[in-house]
Amino acid sequence: MNFLKIGIKFKLITFTASLLLTVILFLSILVLNGIKNYQNKEAEAALFKQKDMFEQYFSERSSSNNNNSVDNNIQLARGSIFNKPWLRNIPASLYNTKGELLSGFKTDGKLNENKDKEFMIQYAIDGKVSYVKVNDVIYFYSPIKYKNNIVAILELEYSVKENSLFYNNIKKMFLITGCFALALGIILGIFYFLTLTRDIYKMKNSVENIQKGNFDKIEQIDRNDELGELSKGLIFMSDTIEKNIEELKIERDTLSVAVDKLEKMDKQQKEFISNVTHEFKTPITTIKAYTDLIEIYNKDLDLIEEGTSNISKECDRLTAMVDSVLNLSALEKYDFEIHKNEVNLKEILDQICSRMMGKIKKNNLTLECDIEDIITTTDEENLRHIVINLIDNAIKYNKPNGSIHISSHRSEDKIILTVEDTGIGIAEDALDKIFEPFYRVESHRSRETGGVGLGLALVKKLVEKQRGTINVASKLKEGSKFSIEFSI
Ligand code: ADP
Repeated sequence: MNFLKIGIKFKLITFTASLLLTVILFLSILVLNGIKNYQNKEAEAALFKQKDMFEQYFSERSSSNNNNSVDNNIQLARGSIFNKPWLRNIPASLYNTKGELLSGFKTDGKLNENKDKEFMIQYAIDGKVSYVKVNDVIYFYSPIKYKNNIVAILELEYSVKENSLFYNNIKKMFLITGCFALALGIILGIFYFLTLTRDIYKMKNSVENIQKGNFDKIEQIDRNDELGELSKGLIFMSDTIEKNIEELKIERDTLSVAVDKLEKMDKQQKEFISNVTHEFKTPITTIKAYTDLIEIYNKDLDLIEEGTSNISKECDRLTAMVDSVLNLSALEKYDFEIHKNEVNLKEILDQICSRMMGKIKKNNLTLECDIEDIITTTDEENLRHIVINLIDNAIKYNKPNGSIHISSHRSEDKIILTVEDTGIGIAEDALDKIFEPFYRVESHRSRETGGVGLGLALVKKLVEKQRGTINVASKLKEGSKFSIEFSI
């Protein structure tokens, strides 16, 4: 990570430095070349001007003289070079057309260092002007003409020392300011790129946080350029990913709940089938045993009487079981329509109580009712089934001379219906199991009373169909209280 960080900064700074260097180099070459060209032109102009002045002066002097012989002209030219002080500005020498020195005037006392002097004089003798620069001195050779004849060769030694000095100073200045500008550029570049790369790394960290799922650690960069837009895009992307992940999690949880439910249902179904098989087998075995015995001892009237009575009992049990199993599996499988009607709860409960009174008395029990006059809409058939089952259990699991208490009252928008008994009670660890199909706390007692453990499972299903809840509170040997709550 750090390596990359250095990499980007290094690249950006190197790029800026190279750019600056190229600009400075280009500019200095351009300016220095301009200066050089100007200086060369200026020197050339000065030399030609000097030569023209000399030629003009020579021509004026010659025309005022009557003796026009070549020698005389040369003498004149020789003299001319010293006569006028302004001709002495630039050290000059004069040669005849054979290349021999006639006269010379040197102010700086330096030796002529031009190695091509002879060749250039010859060039001038041929009528052409030439010059060459040797060690800050321009050596200039030009023919001097009078009446279209070359009468002498003028040599000028023009010092460009000051020009060179000026040029070198400018060069030095460019070097110093160039270095300074470069250093300044790099420093400013470092500061600028530090802030730029800092924002880039912030975004890089944001991307890493998105990868790790740390969506709360995404930082927004406050910039009005493409990086700012990129940062906004990152945040939008992160929000969308977070939302999608949340949705996926919810879907996964729902799916996992559904799978758990399916597994539980599958297990329950298997248990249910195995229980059904077992419960059905027991009465069938009894019936089969009695029929076998009756077949063998068909003369034993007591046996026949006992057998037929037990076979009849087992048949009733089987019928009740078949009804319950069918009801339960039908409730499980089909979404039965609830037929709700407006009913008087007191009327229904009174009817049930008077119907069950015979059984209650037969078991030496007493019944107390505390029923409010409530009008509600409910599925009457379901309600009857629920209450009958609960009263039936309160009878079955009661103690001799015990009592049953039925109450119904209204609380806000709910109806609370309770069936309480003073019976054997239910152990605490069995309380949440009694609503499971085929569960019996004491199977032998249930058996005696004809129960198969399907009553409460059916009651619970019916209560749930009416969108109600059922709860039980119980104390061993003291009694149980079943409470049902319905919306009014
Ligand atoms: P059963 O047909 O065996 O009565 P239920 O589903 O009605 O089946 O009840 C399941 C079990 O719950 C019963 O076997 C019994 O042990 C217990 N039980 C139900 N009601 C009571 C009650 N009022 N008092 C004590 N135990 C009860």
